[in-house]
Amino acid sequence: MPQPLIGAVIGCGFFAQNQLHAWADLPGAKIVALCDRDPARLAETAARFGIARTYTDAGAMFAAERLDFVDIATTVASHRPLVEMAARAGVHVICQKPFASTMQDARAMVQAVEAAGKTLMVHENFRWQSAVRRVIDIVRAGDLGEVFFGRISFRSGYDVFSGQPYLAEGKRFIIEDLGIHVLDIARALFGDATRLAATTRRINPAINGEDVATMLLTHQGGATSVVDCSYATRRVPETFPESLIEIDGSKGSLRLEAGYRLIGPHGVEDLTPPLLPWASKPWHNIQESVLLIQRHFLDCVAAGVPPETSGADNLQTLALVEAAYLSAAEARMVDVALL
Ligand code: NAD
Repeated sequence: MPQPLIGAVIGCGFFAQNQLHAWADLPGAKIVALCDRDPARLAETAARFGIARTYTDAGAMFAAERLDFVDIATTVASHRPLVEMAARAGVHVICQKPFASTMQDARAMVQAVEAAGKTLMVHENFRWQSAVRRVIDIVRAGDLGEVFFGRISFRSGYDVFSGQPYLAEGKRFIIEDLGIHVLDIARALFGDATRLAATTRRINPAINGEDVATMLLTHQGGATSVVDCSYATRRVPETFPESLIEIDGSKGSLRLEAGYRLIGPHGVEDLTPPLLPWASKPWHNIQESVLLIQRHFLDCVAAGVPPETSGADNLQTLALVEAAYLSAAEARMVDVALL
């Protein structure tokens, strides 16, 4: 059995707890240190996961620890300085989404880790949800023939603001936080997009950003897709956090329906995700994808190949986010290559 990769996690907030549970399940990694600038969160998380070495300053951690990789689970404002610090320390890097708040920052981060000769993966986990992965496998195997239409729909009334209060504060909300995942699923299924048009709305008066977005994408391979997202949809049944998928191809169609029911070229499949011992409903779907993407990272480092959602790959997803905001602001179709 090869030695585990030695790692540290920066950011001990709401979502990092899932990442730490997943690392504890993966024999290929060992988390030896934690960092958070909030001492209370740091101490609480360290006690929960039995991690002895803790730091409130990432620079001090890199100076003191011998690490193979770092997992950055902070919010976006700190991503560029932390990724660049990790590159200077010469470690492999995982960074949460949204990777950056500008394309310029994102390109600089990709360049910094590339120059260090290390692996950079964006924790873009929705394409690793097991039901979504099954759909990706079917499309990539060619079972639907030439795909000409897709729709990926995430519509919910779930209160995401109680666990993540910062989501109500930003000028941008649903495209940057959630749409980014759904756009990434569209890329995983249909390839890169060349043009995008979007409309946005704010329905919830208590937040600053948009909570409804409808996007139309033209993909390089010829497919057209619709990516629609809403946190203002009081539907029954509540489907949070499921992405519902419709795909039409020259040989057949598939529908991933509410309740993880897939009707496609192989009949009806029940794709209910497992409830991992540390997971809780309805988040279990996302929690499982955290385990799967972190395993993918370890596999890629071992094989010396870039992860699916490498930093360089994620530039394309970020460009779609920027295209969507620009399209909605200027009421026009945007050429993604120009961003
Ligand atoms: P959070 O605010 O609960 O946690 C962030 C933590 O990072 C805080 O404890 C904060 O003190 C710490 N921090 C910030 N800057 C730091 C710095 N420079 N050095 C050390 N610590 C620092 O946020 P969250 O809800 O856990 O979200 C974190 C990230 O995870 C966000 O980018 C969010 O979009 C992403 N997220 C991803 C998913 C997913 O499914 N992939 C789900 C939820 C959140």
